[in-house]
Amino acid sequence: MRGVVLHAPRDVRVEEREDPRILLPTDAIIRLSATCVCGSDLWPYRGIETVHGPSPMGHEYVGVVQEVGDEVRKIKPGQFVVGSFFASDNTCAICRVGYQSSCVHREPVGGLGAQAEYLRVPLADGTLVATPDLPTDDLVPALLAASDVLGTGWFGAVAAEVGPGKTVAVVGDGAVGLLAVLAARRLGAERVIAVSRHEPRQKLATHYGATDIVTERGDDGVARIKDLTDGLGAHSVIEAVGTQESMLQAIRSTRAGGHVGYVGVAHDVELPGEELFFSHVHLHGGPAPVRRFLPELIDLIYKREIDPGRVFDLTLPLDQAAEGYRAMDERRAIKVLLNP
Ligand SMILES: [Zn+2]
Repeated sequence: MRGVVLHAPRDVRVEEREDPRILLPTDAIIRLSATCVCGSDLWPYRGIETVHGPSPMGHEYVGVVQEVGDEVRKIKPGQFVVGSFFASDNTCAICRVGYQSSCVHREPVGGLGAQAEYLRVPLADGTLVATPDLPTDDLVPALLAASDVLGTGWFGAVAAEVGPGKTVAVVGDGAVGLLAVLAARRLGAERVIAVSRHEPRQKLATHYGATDIVTERGDDGVARIKDLTDGLGAHSVIEAVGTQESMLQAIRSTRAGGHVGYVGVAHDVELPGEELFFSHVHLHGGPAPVRRFLPELIDLIYKREIDPGRVFDLTLPLDQAAEGYRAMDERRAIKVLLNP
């Protein structure tokens, strides 16, 4: 089969990879209907994360089940399924409280390489959620968004305790940040402040329900958010970047007693303990337990109540994955869908 392999920073190739096969009786093999490039794929692409030799890429996936192992009970060949970036049993004590991305049996899907024609999914019964039927083509991008960016933005909003009547700020205008805006509105936020300086992204944020746009970053951005909130800061702030500047902007934009939901993968972030102590701000986040939200998100997508697929503003054949990485790296595209 064809699959994306990162050989070194900025060296993305689509090449022949071995067809995945069932290795454990709890595995499933799916034929990918669509896959995509993630903002977090850009960390190794840019050389900020070390690339240890040729690495299969991709952890966002939807597709049709081809084959299942002997111990797979719920997932059946022919079903259309959505999974996320950690395989999980969905039965252990950690999964049962909704933290499937810290499952005691978790396995990262990224190492298996979902930017490909086929994918082996471990712990299929726990990891995969089947859709009610084979979706029409127009629903596939939205379902693919649920696999990571929508589920991650949703978790950010839940972790930030978004709720009716609250003012929410979202730091980060990538696909996760934009879908955190959508999540915040669905969860009842009265006001949603999106931080973005890029016009196409500002427009999409507004489409998803942002009421205010702040273009300043860092401490200037904090000051603007304070201006908009009677000097107090937002009740809930979602951090969707993962840098020192974005994390401090999120914390400093939150009012005392408020909550930060941080879902940008932290890189070299160091928090000042004394400032944190006196801030009275709650921090919660981490790799999103997307699996917790998948049944609800699939239902909302099927009812066409949300349209998260609009974050994909460039669609390319899998063979042009290198151009997809370039477009996202240069911020010419918000998110790139790849058709296997
Ligand atoms: Zn588990």
